[in-house]
Amino acid sequence: MKREKQYGQSQSEFSLPVAPWDAEYQKNHKIKHLSFHSHVKHINDSTNKNAASSYVNPLSEPNFKVKKNCPSGHKSWPNGICSKCQPSAITLQRQEFRMVDHVEFADSSLVNNFLDSWRSTGYQRLGYLYGRYESYEEVPLGIKAVVEVIYEPAQNGESYGLTLNLEKENEEEINKVDEIAKKFGLRKIGIIFTDLIDSGKGDGSVICKRHKDSYFLTSIEAIFAAKLQCQHPNVSKWSDNNRFSSKFVTCVVSGNIKGEIDIASYQVSTEAEAMVKADLVVPSTHASMVMIQKACKTRYVPDIFYTRVNEYGITVKKSAEGSFPVEYFLVTLTHGFPSEPKPLFKNISKPFVIENRQAIGSSQDISSIAKHFKVDSLPEILTRLSDFHLLTYLHSLGILKAEEEQLAYSVAAGQNEEEAQELFETPGWKTLVTILSD
Ligand code: ZN
Repeated sequence: MKREKQYGQSQSEFSLPVAPWDAEYQKNHKIKHLSFHSHVKHINDSTNKNAASSYVNPLSEPNFKVKKNCPSGHKSWPNGICSKCQPSAITLQRQEFRMVDHVEFADSSLVNNFLDSWRSTGYQRLGYLYGRYESYEEVPLGIKAVVEVIYEPAQNGESYGLTLNLEKENEEEINKVDEIAKKFGLRKIGIIFTDLIDSGKGDGSVICKRHKDSYFLTSIEAIFAAKLQCQHPNVSKWSDNNRFSSKFVTCVVSGNIKGEIDIASYQVSTEAEAMVKADLVVPSTHASMVMIQKACKTRYVPDIFYTRVNEYGITVKKSAEGSFPVEYFLVTLTHGFPSEPKPLFKNISKPFVIENRQAIGSSQDISSIAKHFKVDSLPEILTRLSDFHLLTYLHSLGILKAEEEQLAYSVAAGQNEEEAQELFETPGWKTLVTILSD
């Protein structure tokens, strides 16, 4: 208890034996990145050391754009620029903290069901992760992203990649899904995609494409992740503009060095987000390199450097000269499954037909609902109802009224038999039963 005092007054909020940013502590616990709140606390302790001076927000997002409304009073960019409004040179660094420490899949079946698509076709697949953020005990002041649903948007898969169908109707579909997820206290917290190639050995092993000598995320994927992070900002009271970076995660399913199917989870740095916002980078034909945009009339590109350890073991600053390794953008997260899974949606091992898989021969239709509910007991019916893929499909049919739907969601989450009886008595549910029995 004595030690606590030396870490300042706010220590009462947390109680840790040593400061989590202690280098020795990190090394001993194999922590590669500080948790976000450890980082904030560290910065805040030095920024607001003097209690007598006024409070300063410990965080501000990097901004690599030319500042608007320059105080020097010259014409606004691109008609004028000066040392006060131009962004200073950027020295890229590996980000030492991470916004999320760990990705937890509520049940391993979630990933298995997602992989079935690749298993049956050999085509790559992408899904949105829906879930919530919780505290993560394994890391001091850590945060985990808990995944309850993998929802697969409309896409065209191929053996070597995939394209998302971003037409308006598909966007509207995802907006609806967001709303339904919200009713369960869930939101879009990331993406997952496959990059799997069977090794051809016939033992289920896959090729290891992603390793330290190739890349972990390609520059296309890293820039895509940065864009998604910018679209999903993190609210933070510690920052000037009340937001700081993002807790949106990117998971890749690919072959590990043992040839096993494995998940790797990442985020990109706040610098990556800022570079994408300022339109400074584009993907390169070399997967492991990020290309720097050329300066033009409307784009100011500051000098960009990165530091690396040279052949003599000395850290040197290097000019990026057109491109730099994508690894400067990456922040690695851990992932796992709970030892005693308690998924929010109970019907998880044999899910209802998963959405947007028409192209690979499985469609959601009325007969698939009838088949889904071909079970005998009430508890089994309740379990079958607890399925996000089914609930979103039911919503798209528009048979249940809003309050009936709300009741169905409540039964799906709570598994209460009395409430279920109430649902079965509603006109909407009776209509559904009639349609199913036709
Ligand atoms: Zn200026």
